[in-house]
Amino acid sequence: MSESIRHDKISVRQIMRDLRELSVRDLTPEARLDKIVALVARKMRVDVCSCYIARPGDILELCATFGLDKRAVHETFLRVGEGLVGEIALQRKPLMFEDAWAHSSFVYKPETKEKAFKSLAGVPLIRSNKLLGVLAVQTRKKQPFSDEVIEILETIGLVVAEMLSSHLFKKAETVLAQTTGRQKIEGTGLISGFAVGRAVIHKRLEQPVQLLAKDTQKEVQRLLQALSQVEQEVNKILATSHMTGSQSDIFETYLMFIKDKGWIAKMTKAIETGLTAEAAVQKVGEEVTDRMELMTDPYIKERIHDLQDLVSRVMRHLHRRAKKAKHGRKMPHNTILVAQSMGPAELMDYDLKKIKGIVLEEGSQTMHMVIVTRSMNIPLICGIKNVTEIISNGDSIALDATNGNVYLNPSDDTLDLLSEQANRQRRLRAKYTQMKDLPAITLDEVPVSLNINAGLSQDLTAGNLPYDGIGLYRTELPFMLTEQLPNAKTQTDIYRRVLIQAKDKPVIFRTLDIGSDKVLPYFRHQAEENPAMGWRSIRMTLDRRALLRNQLRAFLRAAAGRDLSIMFPMIATVPEFREAKKTLMMEIEQEQARGGRLPKSIRIGSMLEVPSLIFQLETLLPEVDFISIGTNDLTQFLYASDRGNPTIWNRYDPLSPAFLRVLKYVVEICRKAHVPCSVCGEMAGRPLEAMTLIGLGYQSLSMNPTSLGAVKAMVRSVNQRELSDYLNQQLSLSVDSLREQLRIFALDHGIFIG
Ligand code: PEP
Ligand code: MG
Repeated sequence: MSESIRHDKISVRQIMRDLRELSVRDLTPEARLDKIVALVARKMRVDVCSCYIARPGDILELCATFGLDKRAVHETFLRVGEGLVGEIALQRKPLMFEDAWAHSSFVYKPETKEKAFKSLAGVPLIRSNKLLGVLAVQTRKKQPFSDEVIEILETIGLVVAEMLSSHLFKKAETVLAQTTGRQKIEGTGLISGFAVGRAVIHKRLEQPVQLLAKDTQKEVQRLLQALSQVEQEVNKILATSHMTGSQSDIFETYLMFIKDKGWIAKMTKAIETGLTAEAAVQKVGEEVTDRMELMTDPYIKERIHDLQDLVSRVMRHLHRRAKKAKHGRKMPHNTILVAQSMGPAELMDYDLKKIKGIVLEEGSQTMHMVIVTRSMNIPLICGIKNVTEIISNGDSIALDATNGNVYLNPSDDTLDLLSEQANRQRRLRAKYTQMKDLPAITLDEVPVSLNINAGLSQDLTAGNLPYDGIGLYRTELPFMLTEQLPNAKTQTDIYRRVLIQAKDKPVIFRTLDIGSDKVLPYFRHQAEENPAMGWRSIRMTLDRRALLRNQLRAFLRAAAGRDLSIMFPMIATVPEFREAKKTLMMEIEQEQARGGRLPKSIRIGSMLEVPSLIFQLETLLPEVDFISIGTNDLTQFLYASDRGNPTIWNRYDPLSPAFLRVLKYVVEICRKAHVPCSVCGEMAGRPLEAMTLIGLGYQSLSMNPTSLGAVKAMVRSVNQRELSDYLNQQLSLSVDSLREQLRIFALDHGIFIG
């Protein structure tokens, strides 16, 4: 047998010291990675050390090497499962191959010039359960790697994985790409999908040319005329684009702004100080923006984009350039719109058929423009700083909004990869459509009820697939789109529309869950240190009883003669639930007393999101008609881990035995009490997690409508009994997560997990 590498000649301590030193040096990510692989090769006394980084779509990209041809860096790609490095990634465990070439999985990549190297060992780079890449070493001589050497490599792998996921490499892609002339820029995908096209930079109007005017009267006239032209323009958008309720509400708000007397008075006053109409619009626009920027309320901050859109629109008319502002003629047919920020009306200025994707510096899920874009299904990425400076007009762009990546001047490999992913997504969609009339039933015939979470009218049709009901209607979402608290009549109309759109399917209306990150502009909150655990949700509506009563009345009236289900969020104690239920009972009595037509049936449920309620279920269950588990909040409170904090939000896995044991306890106690129990947190919409819930005994899930297809495909490929037996054995393990075990179970049993 050939001689193995002498582990006693390797000083792990020294390697750790050197790695630590590298982590504090001021290096570009690429230089840091180069130094890491050189260090490992030298200290491990091997001829080659290479680092492959995991890319979306189960791809590994060679990002640094010591020993292989450096020209292969960013040119060599392997699929997870392809070649020996791919095998290490697939199996997620260290592997060593004394005679790499003799192995059936070996794949030769000529550009690496690796012909000279005979043996290979590698470790997966994993952090928080996520595969980040593979660290591989190779030797010229054919030789085994002892267990001790593999252990050393594993320790190094742990540190490298830690470094890769830290701030040291956060912007790695941008820097790495600068050397290749290409860039991958990471943002946040808000509307998933893929797109390839040419950049069109959206710019707002520049500074006004003339600041001062003599004829004040004339300037006021110009201002009023421009405002009226904008009004006509917005009315035209409203009349010609077929918008749903929530979209048109946004433009109605624009109209209110245009006609706002306070705003007009401020501009007129500015003109009276001697400014031109343009300068006045700009001055007042900036003042309002500055004031809005000082507010901590995210809703108000998002309205800044709408205001800026409006200001720039008025300015264009003042410059008599409104016609030119129509961008249609200059746009390529495959436009990727790039903007610092944008209002929905600005978006409407473009020929929407030509927009294949959007990249924004500023954006969030609840921003109006994003809401409008979502219903048009245009992939959108936000959160890229200085994006309009990084990207220029006409640049070639590939967008992977599913993973939040923008590729600037992408390589052919990247394009192939993305188009493959886009094709895969298309194939999957076709598969889901084919299944649409088939029942959601497991292989051993356990039926699973698939419901959707909704809140905006487009949610009801977003997945384009059938569903059993609306398992969670988040009533706070329509409230967020209005400028003032909707009165009982407006609310009744909103809820009635939902019931009509849902046809005969059951709808579970949740009472207002405001507070924390969901703030209403017209509902002032005091600043709180911990708003997620503060005065929110049922705590607030029980204190503001009129608000709750108004809403309950609206539910009752909207569902007159129909079935009605209502649930209360963030219930922490049984008396809290009783108080909420008592309020509903009073409203029912009042409706009856005034001769109003009541719903045919009324079911009253509680959300389970606060851990304290778990220990009160025995008392609570006899008093509720159903339970719905909000796993988003339940995990955050069980693990004391803020769901909105990017540094820690995925530190604890809902697939940990601890959390799963809680879920199992709940489903079992509910079953014994004959109380239906479902899950409506994000977890229910992810195939692997949904599979696990089914294994625990859940038969009702409520999810984002776009998850319906994948979850149904999973349900139809799983055997509940087998999975449940397997899961029961795993639940006693003392590990951070069962994700890997469950993933392998799914793969071994042919269960579709996306
Ligand atoms: C949850 O907490 O899981 C839930 C469904 O409610 P929301 O996400 O609206 O807080
Ligand atoms: Mg919640």
